[in-house]
Amino acid sequence: TTTRPFNFSAGPAILPEVVLEQARDELLNWHESGMCVAEMSHRGKEFMHIASQAESDLRELLGIPDNYKVLFLQGGASSQFALIPMNLLPPGGCADYINTGTWSQKAIGEARRIGAINIATTTEESRFTRAPAANELTLTPNAAYVHYTPNETIEGVEFPYVPATGNVPLIADMSSTLLSRPIDVKQFGFIYAGAQKNIGPAGLTIVIVRDDLIGKAPANTPAMFDYKVHADNGSMYNTPPTYAWYLAGLVFKWLKDQGGLTAMATINQRKAALLYDAIDRSDFYHSPVDPAARSWMNVPFTLTNPALDKPFLTQAKAAGLLALQGHRSVGGMRASIYNAMPEAGVNALVQFMAEFERTQG
Ligand code: PMP
Repeated sequence: TTTRPFNFSAGPAILPEVVLEQARDELLNWHESGMCVAEMSHRGKEFMHIASQAESDLRELLGIPDNYKVLFLQGGASSQFALIPMNLLPPGGCADYINTGTWSQKAIGEARRIGAINIATTTEESRFTRAPAANELTLTPNAAYVHYTPNETIEGVEFPYVPATGNVPLIADMSSTLLSRPIDVKQFGFIYAGAQKNIGPAGLTIVIVRDDLIGKAPANTPAMFDYKVHADNGSMYNTPPTYAWYLAGLVFKWLKDQGGLTAMATINQRKAALLYDAIDRSDFYHSPVDPAARSWMNVPFTLTNPALDKPFLTQAKAAGLLALQGHRSVGGMRASIYNAMPEAGVNALVQFMAEFERTQG
């Protein structure tokens, strides 16, 4: 029973309302500790409990095998763009990158500063509106790793499959898709995500890394940039982002209450289908993305008449539908419908779109 508007921001994004309410209720005095979580020592027993509970809930949700470490880091996914090649791309080696959009390109740009990379394929010729077919990938035998972006947040393009890379470790930037559905962690060597979409507030970055990929950084790597340092210290080599870690833990509990990731996948697929159907049914709205690669989380769409963009956004806001403006590089609209967006929010958007078309079309 929300009285708040529906927030379609791509990130930082909507959080489950019950999580915010719980955080509010616990703000001044967490579990009779007399402290706000933000005031606790990260090494005290209260926070150690919060931290390990969050990790075990995340492990349960994703089915993370024991030979993977979970790291709770700072610096955003953008830091991982650099840390991954710093740790995992040896001198004289080569890494493969699949280029499917803005965030792949950012990862590629950072890797190029560190070492040699090969572009396994690019979908730029389609203006990043599709996912490459498996047979379009030119993979380097013995590459240090293959990096890809399963969900391109800006273009709204999602891989409908996990690339097969044999013995070469697969690295995935899951910033805008982690926890949207079950995944088979074993298919990946390394998974990372900025928290501010599907996990919690900004300031926390989740890394899930297979043991054999830890400890490969050159000896002169600064401690904060070395995964082994973070893994050996339980993500507490320095002060971790404690409050964000706590809120992420509340989100993990909430996901378990919803029935876990299988249940979330059903809901997310239904929400996305509702919105894409509304777009496809009408000549007034248009989706630029190949139907085979449409994201469940980020839904870009345009108005056939761009002169109506401004009135659309103004009236949407007045109707309680926030942050629908598309990324400046793509234009048009984008509705991000992460886990925390209730189905009622998507329903309200679809109804608004039909009403806007009726009155302005
Ligand atoms: N990768 C993807 C897929 C993203 O969506 C984003 C954030 N929009 C980033 C990386 C960058 O994340 P951060 O701002 O946490 O560095």
